[in-house]
Amino acid sequence: MKEECCSRERVKIALKSIGKEQLEIILKEDKKAEVVCPYCNKKYQFSKKDLTEIMMEI
Ligand SMILES: [Zn+2]
Repeated sequence: MKEECCSRERVKIALKSIGKEQLEIILKEDKKAEVVCPYCNKKYQFSKKDLTEIMMEI
């Protein structure tokens, strides 16, 4: 089976890599994040709660 180009776990890692300050701005302005995979166009939604959890893991 072919490996998938993306996963929620990978998108989470990408979000962590943009840094706490940037995530704080997203939380303040949008209160959510939507990440689209550039390869398969799959959308990943992150709620305020998800983003808060990601920030705490940084
Ligand atoms: Zn993908």
